Amino acid sequence: MNFDLSPAQREMRDALRAFLLRECPIEYVRSCDDAERFPVELFDKLAAQGWLGLPIPEEFGGTGGSCTDLAVFLEELAWHFEAAANCYYTTVVIAADALTHFASAALKRELLPKLARGEIRFAFSLSEPNSGSDAASLRTRAVAEGEHWVINGQKMFCSCAQVADYILLMARSDAAAPKHDGITMFLLDPRTPGVEIRRLRKLGLKPMDLNEIFLTDARIPKDAIIGELNRGWRNVLKTLDYERCCLSAVNVGAARSCLDRALSYTKEREQFGQKIANFQLTRAKLADMQMEIDAARLLLYRSADLVDRGIPNNRESAIANLYSSETYVRAALSGMRMMGGWGYLMEFDMQRHYRDSKLAEIGGGTSEILRIVISREMLK
Ligand SMILES: Cc1cc2nc3c(=O)[nH]c(=O)nc-3n(C[C@H](O)[C@H](O)[C@H](O)COP(=O)(O)OP(=O)(O)OC[C@H]3O[C@@H](n4cnc5c(N)ncnc54)[C@H](O)[C@@H]3O)c2cc1C
Repeated sequence: MNFDLSPAQREMRDALRAFLLRECPIEYVRSCDDAERFPVELFDKLAAQGWLGLPIPEEFGGTGGSCTDLAVFLEELAWHFEAAANCYYTTVVIAADALTHFASAALKRELLPKLARGEIRFAFSLSEPNSGSDAASLRTRAVAEGEHWVINGQKMFCSCAQVADYILLMARSDAAAPKHDGITMFLLDPRTPGVEIRRLRKLGLKPMDLNEIFLTDARIPKDAIIGELNRGWRNVLKTLDYERCCLSAVNVGAARSCLDRALSYTKEREQFGQKIANFQLTRAKLADMQMEIDAARLLLYRSADLVDRGIPNNRESAIANLYSSETYVRAALSGMRMMGGWGYLMEFDMQRHYRDSKLAEIGGGTSEILRIVISREMLK
């Protein structure tokens, strides 16, 4: 059993680290967070370096990285800028995965090279006001009319819709079919008449906009479909494990950022005449953070390896997602504790992790849903 990264993966991580230290200084991270804006400049530079092509097959202009490669990439990006890693996952990875596996040959040829070059961005819209964890109960309707689909309904919680050129929109295309059938993944141009996008205010991850989408007789071309008609739920299920791996990598990188910030703070801050890192209670917190991050990374690599080898890993990817998300939340909380009142100030970065980390326990399935997935697999 080999726990090491390959030489190529180490080289990629080191090159990315050097690039991000140069192009993504902490002042830039803070400015995007303060202004609540998508890190366009960083994405342009990532595109210029070819990093946006990592999850895209070589034949479509990408570099065809494995799931493990992507995990290494996302962990490093999240260490530097957690929201940017979430934006990368949302605007690049989900679409790269869905298009590669399900789109027609023509759509792949048209969209994937543009995605790799950073010319287009995507968002993914599944949730609705009344369908969150029970996502398959979605009600947005798509009705065939001549050469078009006419879409009506309301979507909720769509990340990055305001910066997206296309939205992968899940809608019910056969109202008579059982709940999990009759759902299709549509390719929606957000500029289509009848589409209204409204921004939602939220706690953290400020650079990643969050939106609700209102669809009123929005007409899209008949062939604007990703995958088979009425089989959209299968698209979602098939890509879930891969996506949970990616989210786990973001969690591990962000938790490591909390630990590194806590380490440098506790080595500097003095109380009772000594560095607070000298106190055993502080050291116990640091040790717990390190232990949990190491464990989360090993769980992540286990599931990424299973994805890469095509072995079913529903349980393993859910475990990695659940453990890494709770590790990130605990790391941010522990980091806040170690910084006392200073951690509460906006000029320190720990508060950003404290705010950002909560989404980790919601996206990709809430902690309750992930526990249900894991136990269901155990009881099979
Ligand atoms: C910042 C942010 C970004 C998001 N981005 C996207 C996006 O880009 N695209 C998208 O489609 N969605 C997105 N979402 C939506 C996200 O996937 C949902 O919020 C999530 O699936 C939970 O749904 P819900 O919020 O409706 O909660 P609910 O499903 O209503 O759950 C409420 C509570 O009930 C619990 N619960 C539900 N069912 C069960 C059960 N069977 N057993 C035990 N407990 C249960 C949940 O765990 C939770 O604690 C985003 C959400 C946020 C906050």
